Amino acid sequence: MKNPSPEELFPHIKERLCKKCDAVLPVSNFGVFFHKKSGLYCFAGMCKGCAVKKSKEYAENNKERVAQNHKAHRKRSVEQLRDWYVVGQLKNRNGFTDEQIAEMGEDLLETKRTLLKIHRKLKNLKNGEK
Ligand SMILES: [Zn+2]
Repeated sequence: MKNPSPEELFPHIKERLCKKCDAVLPVSNFGVFFHKKSGLYCFAGMCKGCAVKKSKEYAENNKERVAQNHKAHRKRSVEQLRDWYVVGQLKNRNGFTDEQIAEMGEDLLETKRTLLKIHRKLKNLKNGEK
């Protein structure tokens, strides 16, 4: 659901002070969120510029955490044999070029995907798993 715009919610408020950079800015520079407890829409405490900066800072200060999320995302993609992963395998392991992959298209991807599945299955069997 999209939040209503600040202008719609608070037509009498034109400007707002950013708690972070102390600048008085038009309300369009502030995000609006729904405050569940009070059931009211509220302005974000900081302007959008500061919010962007903060999320960048967060990424900078939490590199490990962000990298871990990235890793987890990658792992899921690999498990699900997403297209980009299969294409990567075709290129790196089988020496296919982009042109060859494009030319053979979906058939090649599906075949490789099946091969990867079989390969995994065999590996699991070897390791004594089901
Ligand atoms: Zn600000």
